[in-house]
Amino acid sequence: MKEKLTLMIPGPTPVPERVLKALGKHPIGHRSPEFQEIVKSTTNLLKWLHQTKGDVLTITGSGTAAMEAGIINTLSKGDKVICGENGKFGERWVKVAKAYGLNVTTVKAKWGEPLDPESFKNLLNKDKDIRAVIITHSETSTGVINNLEAISKLVKSHENAIMIADCVTSIGACNVPMDEWSIDVIASGSQKGYRMPPGLSFVAMSQKAWEANERSDLPKFYLDLRSYKKAADKNSNPYTPGVNLYFALEEALKIMKEEGLEAIFKRHNRHMQAIQEAVNAIGLTLFAKEGYGSPSITSVIPNNDINAEEIRKYIKNKFDILIAGGQDHLKGKVFRIGHLGFINDRDIITVIAALEASLDHMGVLNKPLGTGVAAATKILINN
Ligand SMILES: *Cc1c(COP(=O)(O)O)cnc(C)c1O
Repeated sequence: MKEKLTLMIPGPTPVPERVLKALGKHPIGHRSPEFQEIVKSTTNLLKWLHQTKGDVLTITGSGTAAMEAGIINTLSKGDKVICGENGKFGERWVKVAKAYGLNVTTVKAKWGEPLDPESFKNLLNKDKDIRAVIITHSETSTGVINNLEAISKLVKSHENAIMIADCVTSIGACNVPMDEWSIDVIASGSQKGYRMPPGLSFVAMSQKAWEANERSDLPKFYLDLRSYKKAADKNSNPYTPGVNLYFALEEALKIMKEEGLEAIFKRHNRHMQAIQEAVNAIGLTLFAKEGYGSPSITSVIPNNDINAEEIRKYIKNKFDILIAGGQDHLKGKVFRIGHLGFINDRDIITVIAALEASLDHMGVLNKPLGTGVAAATKILINN
């Protein structure tokens, strides 16, 4: 039943029917008063989601557009920046920064391990000229959550540096209080925690980020955030935005507001725990270091040298659930279960049941069938 495929990859994620319906309406003029109302309402809801009094600007483009916008709007050629790199998306930051001629120092951690805030501290203490610290909060390629709060606090006490974070798979999944943690730039994308299709991305900017913007000399036009800010102040856009995606955004943010931030964070945390317990119970290995699992994505190493791609394919073909494979050197070594956005307890129970069934089918389930489901269910009913 291919038309009933459930997405459990880290984006695109499932989309609620209310959002799909909003998407299917006739487009309206993007300079109309009706559209201005939508821009106004989504801007306010985005600020609520980011827990900020600063600006959250919407770009028609994927998450990478928001990442690139964050860099080119706050930095200048040759600026010294520190990039955290412990996975594929940390690497992407380094590539964007280098593409614009920034002077990049990387702080690395092994894939599966979190970035160490101490390393950032030492570099920041040594050099007053550092202009930005750039990290990925939830590293989607490994399923690791980095300690953004601790790293951001270090940046706050530095004279010149701003904190830039990729929160693409943490916004809408776990607590990211932008103002309280003094994060200056946050990038995110609609197809992740927003329960929307791909196509919109978001850049949140603090006061300190706008101050950095004043001296920024990197080339920009479509992604020049001053145009977006100027337009947003009049509830508008500089260019033609994805009008129907805005309809979807408004509905999706309303659904999030109805659920409430606390409930959203709790749900993601329960799902993460349920999957972790189930994986341990059936004797597979969690790829992320203990205590650093992402609330939105769990990366798993199969047992008995089974190729992870075989498990992935079996689950898709037999159970119509799409999970993700490993990236780069992890291809075939891990599979990744996305549990981000519009995911309920039933999705968790079925993906674990499908996982056990696939291992059983391959003759490598070393526990009674149902052991994983029992472990997951226990978490789900008791939390
Ligand atoms: C998905 C993702 C992105 C953005 O990717 P796009 O394909 O450009 O939307 C960036 N960072 C992380 C951590 C992601 O998971």
